Amino acid sequence: MSAADAARLPSLLTALRLPTIKRLWPGITEQSDKEGWPATRLLATLAELELADRSQRRIARHMEQARLPAGKRLDGFDFAAVPMVSRAHVQALATGDRWLASGQNLLMFGPPGSGKTHLAAALGRELIEQGYRVLFTRTTDLVQRLQTARQELNLPGALEKLDKFDLLILDDLSYVEKDQAETSVLFELISTRYERRSLLVTANQPFGQWDRIFPDPSMTVAAIDRLVHHAVIFEMNVESYRRRGAAARVAKPAEEVESDTVK
Ligand code: ADP
Ligand code: MG
Repeated sequence: MSAADAARLPSLLTALRLPTIKRLWPGITEQSDKEGWPATRLLATLAELELADRSQRRIARHMEQARLPAGKRLDGFDFAAVPMVSRAHVQALATGDRWLASGQNLLMFGPPGSGKTHLAAALGRELIEQGYRVLFTRTTDLVQRLQTARQELNLPGALEKLDKFDLLILDDLSYVEKDQAETSVLFELISTRYERRSLLVTANQPFGQWDRIFPDPSMTVAAIDRLVHHAVIFEMNVESYRRRGAAARVAKPAEEVESDTVK
C-alpha cells in the first residue's frame, strides 16, 4: 500500500461524503490485498457498504424528524381489543404503496384510550422503515405553528415545507379550538394536501360534532368533504384500553395483581 495514498484517502472520502468507506477501507483493503481480490470486487464491496449505511442513516434521520411518540409499535398493538380494525388491512397500509402515492387519507375515530395515537404512531414508524417521510404532530401544535407563519406572512412557505412529508399525522384534531383565524389555517392545510399528500387524522369526535372545530358550517362541510373523498376510516368505538386493563387487574385475586405489570 502506498503511504501517500493512504494519507490522502481520509480527506478525499470526507470531501466525497463517503463516511462508511472512510471508516472501513483500512480493514477491507487489507483483506482484499491478502486474498487477492480483483479491483472491481473491492470497489463493489465498498460501494455496497456505503449504500447500505446511507439508507440506514436516512431512515434514522427520518425517524428523528418524525417526532413519533416513543415505544408505540405495531407488534405491541393488540388487535383483539379493536375487532373492527383488521390486522391485515393495517399491514397493507403499513407498506404505504398505493394510498400514499395517491394522497389518500386515513381517519381514526374513537373515544379516549381506544388506541388511535398508538396505531397512528405505529403505522408512521412502519412507513418510515419503508422509506417514506412522516411527521407526527398534535393538531393544536401544528395549528399554532401555522398560525404564527400566517402572522409572519409565510403561510404558503410553511405549508410547502410540510409537502416533503408523504404522511402528516394530525393527532387529536377535535381538540382544536373554535377560533376563526386558527381553524382556517387547518382548512388551508387540508385543502393544500387534498389529492396530493396524505393525512392521517385522529379524533375523539365524529364528523357530526366538527362544527365545533371550524368557524362556519360551510367550511366544516368543505373540510370533511376533502378529507373523506379518498379515505379509509377506522371507527374504533371500544372501551378505553387503559380502563380495561385496570378492570382486569381489579378482577384478579390479590397475589396475581402484585405480579402484574401495571401500565
Ligand atoms: P387514544 O389516542 O385513542 O386516546 P392511545 O393510543 O393513547 O389512545 O391509547 C392509550 C394507551 O393504551 C396507550 O398507552 C396505548 O399504547 C394503549 N393501547 C390502546 N389500545 C391498545 C391496543 N389495542 N393494544 C395495545 N395497547 C393499546
Ligand atoms: Mg390519542
